[in-house]
Amino acid sequence: MVDVLIAGAGPAGWALGAACVRRGLRTALAAPDPFRRWPATYGLWADEAPEFPESAVASAPRTVLASGTREHRLKRRYLVVDNDGLAETLTVPGIEVITGTVAAAEHDRHGSTVRFTDGLERRAGVVVDASGARRVLTGGQPAGVHTEQTAYGLVVPADTARRLVPGDTAVFMDWRGNLGADPTFLYALPLGDGTVLLEETSLARRPGLGIDVLAARLRARLARAGVPAEGREERVRIVLDLPLPRPRRVIPFGVAAGFVHPATGYSVATTLRLAPKLAATLAETLPRGPLAASTGAHADLWPPAALAVHRLRRHALHALCGLAPAQIPEFFDLFFALPVEAQRAFTSGREDLAGTSAAMLRIFRAAPWRLKRHLIG
Ligand SMILES: Cc1cc2nc3c(=O)[nH]c(=O)nc-3n(C[C@H](O)[C@H](O)[C@H](O)COP(=O)(O)OP(=O)(O)OC[C@H]3O[C@@H](n4cnc5c(N)ncnc54)[C@H](O)[C@@H]3O)c2cc1C
Repeated sequence: MVDVLIAGAGPAGWALGAACVRRGLRTALAAPDPFRRWPATYGLWADEAPEFPESAVASAPRTVLASGTREHRLKRRYLVVDNDGLAETLTVPGIEVITGTVAAAEHDRHGSTVRFTDGLERRAGVVVDASGARRVLTGGQPAGVHTEQTAYGLVVPADTARRLVPGDTAVFMDWRGNLGADPTFLYALPLGDGTVLLEETSLARRPGLGIDVLAARLRARLARAGVPAEGREERVRIVLDLPLPRPRRVIPFGVAAGFVHPATGYSVATTLRLAPKLAATLAETLPRGPLAASTGAHADLWPPAALAVHRLRRHALHALCGLAPAQIPEFFDLFFALPVEAQRAFTSGREDLAGTSAAMLRIFRAAPWRLKRHLIG
């Protein structure tokens, strides 16, 4: 029997697994392909993950730009994650790795029994669902139409990318270009290996904008700039409105736990920050029994302030979805004109209710009436 069995081997599963081992918990991590390289390119704000290891930084572009109708130079450090480097820091000795697909979990007073699709059964004090949007042990993939962020990207050589984006520069978003129905923006990231990811992104739409539409727009954008549209592809689909977890015996973590910021789609930094916190809570509460551990975990991950901020962020998502295409760049000009602390509070202040509401209020106050009407609506 282990203390903690984690289903899922994405950043959430491995970050929590490493943190639990460091707390002295007997820990197992299970996934169909536990050592598979994470395929996504992850970016995060450095101030969101202060403990982020330098060995896991693929690049930290010198300049970070964002454009609504005009260009803003952002005064926050943006990091591109080196997935191999991060995985290495999280692959700690002592973690038991199980290759298998988790199917179900049953619970009793003393712990849980996890069943795998191949018939294997394992006992654990507590079970964690870190299976991403699949949420294999916490309700499954939600049915129906969802609000999604979608994107299509190509990784191109840095010297050709320079025809579109200056060297050593991340473009967090650039709304100049594709503002018809269903506006999309350019996201650009130097990957630190002589290549640049150029991505056409639909921030939020219900249902998500088709990848084929995004691919055609990116190709047209690249053709206009004279950049050959060749390279490794990246396809992004992030559900922005997954339901928040209710307290129950299986503890969700990462995307499965609703960590995705509804208005930005980000969750990696939150996951990395909360893993040691959850591990500490489990180490403290497990001696009092599995129920104490899962109750403590839920309270830890979703305190009232985080719930209130999440509601505000969802409100922001709905407001954004309600804007007319031409108003979106205007809105982001207001956002990127905010002082950096206010921007940080909105994108990263998960429990900062005062900061999040102040940032939203500042935008509202600064907005012209025609924009205000839509933001209220
Ligand atoms: C292409 C892309 C780019 C993204 N970029 C960013 C970004 O720049 N910044 C950011 O903050 N967020 C980003 N996100 C959003 C989010 O942070 C990522 O989806 C991230 O991978 C979520 O981590 P996770 O560990 O919670 O889930 P996942 O990475 O989805 O991992 C889920 C794990 O569960 C396993 N699993 C599935 N079913 C089972 C089962 N039955 N039993 C056991 N294991 C199972 C899977 O094999 C996988 O190992 C991006 C998402 C995508 C898709």
